[in-house]
Amino acid sequence: MKDPRTVVRRMGWPESRSRALGTPLQPSVVYVAETPDALDDQYEGRTKGFSYAREGHPNAEVLAQAIDALEGAEGGIMLSSGMGAVGACMMALLNAGDHVVAGNQLYGRSLRMLKEDLPRFGIQTTFADPTDVESFRAALRPNTKLILLEVVSNPTLRVAEMAGLIALAKEHGVKVVVDNTFTTPRAYRPFDHGADVVIHSVTKLLAGHSDVTLGYVAAKDPADRKKIYDLAVTFGFTASPFDCWLGERGLYSFDLRFDRAESNAAALADALAEMPGVTRVLYPTRPDHPDHNRAIGLLGGRGGNMVSFEIKGGRAQTNAFVAAAEHIAFAPTLGDIGTTLSHPPSSSHRALSEEDRASLGISEGFFRVSVGVEPIELLIAEFREALEAAQ
Ligand SMILES: *Cc1c(COP(=O)(O)O)cnc(C)c1O
Repeated sequence: MKDPRTVVRRMGWPESRSRALGTPLQPSVVYVAETPDALDDQYEGRTKGFSYAREGHPNAEVLAQAIDALEGAEGGIMLSSGMGAVGACMMALLNAGDHVVAGNQLYGRSLRMLKEDLPRFGIQTTFADPTDVESFRAALRPNTKLILLEVVSNPTLRVAEMAGLIALAKEHGVKVVVDNTFTTPRAYRPFDHGADVVIHSVTKLLAGHSDVTLGYVAAKDPADRKKIYDLAVTFGFTASPFDCWLGERGLYSFDLRFDRAESNAAALADALAEMPGVTRVLYPTRPDHPDHNRAIGLLGGRGGNMVSFEIKGGRAQTNAFVAAAEHIAFAPTLGDIGTTLSHPPSSSHRALSEEDRASLGISEGFFRVSVGVEPIELLIAEFREALEAAQ
């Protein structure tokens, strides 16, 4: 019974012999311990329990364990964003004076972190081409501690030479960190191939509904895991209960969404190649993709849900195409349940000079599609009509 003199004393949770099927959301910041001895037991690992949400909470643990299972990982940590995961990993595993070798087509903010932010803390990065192991070998220095890779690059969908890069890193005692956001464990599980750390922007395909910003990181070595965990808790990079709860709900349909989006993407890529005004289509498992063999060997033929293509013409044609594709959301993200279209020259790659973009193969007519789960006939018809309108 509630004490009639005050409303602030909380009641317990109502009893129920049947359990909730849905995961309960636990927003509590703090947990009430029985005694100081009980708290000692908990902090020293003799019993399990939570104490303060920034250090851990049930919704983060449930979601992390689900992603752990997909990645073949243990002890994954939920962060407040994908960039929180990249940042926590870099800041925890590197010291001033260390050197990084990184793929030259990483996610834009990861490039910025390595180019602009980490140098202020005495950490230097050399960028190299992940489809060419020799370019990574040439970039190694005696103080190289870590290499940072994405398996499939954005937006040209090049496939990294993972086996050679991981072997090179082992040979030199360098840690391999893989941002697996684009590829997902459905196509490639970095830990199965010798990676040391796996990162996700859960915001994208894993959560899948563009309604939550979340990150995940798991490390093979428990000492690395502890460093990343302590840094994330200290700097406040960890994720909120509500975000984890929502992310978990999205994750339940991840494999269904991915498989459907992938088969749509393969069909859309083939259809685009035949459409008016399309000069180039990039999809990893197409025979005309430069890394076709690696997409088959490394990714087991799983091309993923991203397709890039190029249309003839300049800004007038790209504007006309986007305006005509009125039911395809023009939005610089990926992994939503629905199809989204992005234009790297005016969004993710706008900071690059035209020359630098050209060297990556990104012209004004370059588009990237994150393919969703719509009926494929509808998608193909919408792209065809918009392309016809643009020409
Ligand atoms: C989106 C993305 C990130 C950053 O994730 P946020 O959740 O937006 O912080 C990092 N890496 C890759 C490959 C991404 O696509």
